[in-house]
Amino acid sequence: MPTFEEARSIILKSVSPLGAERVALLDSLGRVIAEDIIAPWHMPCFDNSAMDGFAVREADCREPVSLRITGYIPAGGAATVPLEPGCAIRIMTGAPLPHGCDAVVPVEETEESDGHVRIREKVVPRQHIRFSGEDVRQGETIIPQGTIIRSPEISMLASFGKAVVPVYGKARVAILSTGDELVELGEPLEDGKIINSNALSLAASVLECGATPIILGIARDNSESHREKMLEGLKADVLITSAGVSAGDRDLVRDILAELGVKQIFWKVDIKPGGPTAFALKEGKPVFSLPGNPVSTMVTFEEFVKPALLRMMGHRRVFKPFKRAVLQGKARKKPGKINFLRVRLTWENGRYLAYSSGDQNTGILKTMLMADAIAKLPADRTEFAPGEEVDVHILSCDVDMLEE
Ligand code: AMP
Ligand code: MG
Repeated sequence: MPTFEEARSIILKSVSPLGAERVALLDSLGRVIAEDIIAPWHMPCFDNSAMDGFAVREADCREPVSLRITGYIPAGGAATVPLEPGCAIRIMTGAPLPHGCDAVVPVEETEESDGHVRIREKVVPRQHIRFSGEDVRQGETIIPQGTIIRSPEISMLASFGKAVVPVYGKARVAILSTGDELVELGEPLEDGKIINSNALSLAASVLECGATPIILGIARDNSESHREKMLEGLKADVLITSAGVSAGDRDLVRDILAELGVKQIFWKVDIKPGGPTAFALKEGKPVFSLPGNPVSTMVTFEEFVKPALLRMMGHRRVFKPFKRAVLQGKARKKPGKINFLRVRLTWENGRYLAYSSGDQNTGILKTMLMADAIAKLPADRTEFAPGEEVDVHILSCDVDMLEE
């Protein structure tokens, strides 16, 4: 049985980035660029004014002077007429500099009267000019392969006319629920049945990773049904099953996967919840068999499946860092396994404080909703006192936001 860390490292070593595809610029948001992007031209691509004001020759302005205004260049206009000595051209921010100009004087520092502009302040050569190539040089790598596209990258790519960009493919993730007790959402709920909520929570988690879920429905507790659905699932890039992976006589998942030539890499990890997790490969394609309890399914997705999906979609940083938090109550566990404790977090005096979100039984879903994070209690320890620091994985995206 691998340890938690070993299991994560085995999984990560088994997967690699999918092929690249080209998508419309806005569709690349949140995805990973698959090639180095090189600047096709200088940015800015022409010298232009950084202020609304007057284009001048510095040599004319070494002492207070009055210059004749001979033209006007608006933003988007063209600098067709050169700037003659003793003259100024009215210019707007972003407008191209006229030939002969080597400084811009902001309008606030001037006085105008009858076709002339008076300049009182000393003018420094090159002032208020944005020079061609001062931001980016032609041929420079603007976005290295492996970068996640955010709005600044979108801005840069758009500025260089990149309407279509190469990104790593989205993983197509098949989701298979197993069990005779399950009915689909919307179907009548008879005695003894429960709704197949794992399919939806897994699909939501897959979407949150930026991948594409394919919900396969329910494999019933017989070999035929498992076989049929699993064959379908193995057509995707990744197959995730839930439930049927413990040691019960109806837990068929591992046996049928083996029958279909899927090679088990490990079964069971030293964690709670989530112990019976299995990981397997079919010709390099990862198959995750997660336990069925909704809390176990979510925790094992977060810790094992998510890093693999991120790696497949070209991400380089795939493990969420553990943060330190100060435990606010006692905790107790059996030795031998890492325990994940559902906790609420607050931020006080520069530290996270971690409070149990309530009943930690694997079957209790409510305390997962109330948790901002899961705290990782080490395998070898048994007793935890208030005030101890523990590792936490933050789940909520709003934990760092201040409350009103
Ligand atoms: P099993 O591993 O098959 O024994 O399933 C463990 C428990 O997980 C079951 O008793 C169900 O309560 C729960 N469970 C299994 N599959 C699902 C599912 N698709 N959605 C919600 N709960 C499930
Ligand atoms: Mg079952």
